[in-house]
Amino acid sequence: MTTYCDDHRRVAQALMSQPALSEAKLLALIRPATAAQAEAGEHDRSRLKAFVDVVNEQLRPLGLEITKRKSESDGERMYALLSFVDVPPTRDKPELQLLFMQAIAGEVFTSTDGCISSTDALHLADGLPCKTTSTQAQSMLTKLIGDGWLEDAGFGHVCLSTRCIMEMESYLKRHYPGYVLSCPLCNDLVVRGEPCADCGNERYHRPCLREYIQKVGAKMCTQCGSQLTPAPADRAG
Ligand SMILES: [Zn+2]
Ligand SMILES: [Zn+2]
Repeated sequence: MTTYCDDHRRVAQALMSQPALSEAKLLALIRPATAAQAEAGEHDRSRLKAFVDVVNEQLRPLGLEITKRKSESDGERMYALLSFVDVPPTRDKPELQLLFMQAIAGEVFTSTDGCISSTDALHLADGLPCKTTSTQAQSMLTKLIGDGWLEDAGFGHVCLSTRCIMEMESYLKRHYPGYVLSCPLCNDLVVRGEPCADCGNERYHRPCLREYIQKVGAKMCTQCGSQLTPAPADRAG
């Protein structure tokens, strides 16, 4: 499959209408179009990569690109259509909601656990330039969760969605350079990760750490040498 056709267009459209799609969903979408390659024994990921490459070739002149990133909560590969020209993140949002989103993202990014309580998120509305009632703040927060920018982290906490991290990565790095940490296993930015319990100097994505330990048996902190143990299940703080 090397020529751009309706199958590719459908995938681009699906990604335009949703914040992000999982690898499994994207594979299901391209299955009919790549049936011949699948039958010939081509691996799922290489079929998907070839397909996405063709779509990206068409999208790049428009300043758009399909990008993938592992979810910090379950490790699933997520795909999103992003603009790589420097536009403000969440550009389709009303100004106040964008400012609210940026305030929440900053607070989450600089928190120790990569998530904050919904109550703390709502209080951030008090710092917005125009007066916001608690009902307005609550409805903006509900919308940010509903639109897939924030995720429920359990225990009344919210964290940033994979799409949100992808889109806001450069904003967060620019505004909070002192908090930028990359996962030593995948090199991607860590927002919600597992710190070394002894020195706290390294922070890993929980799915990366779990996967590594499953494959290799144990992982030692490269800073202090202690054995790292991932949290058994996702939890908020
Ligand atoms: Zn990682
Ligand atoms: Zn350590």
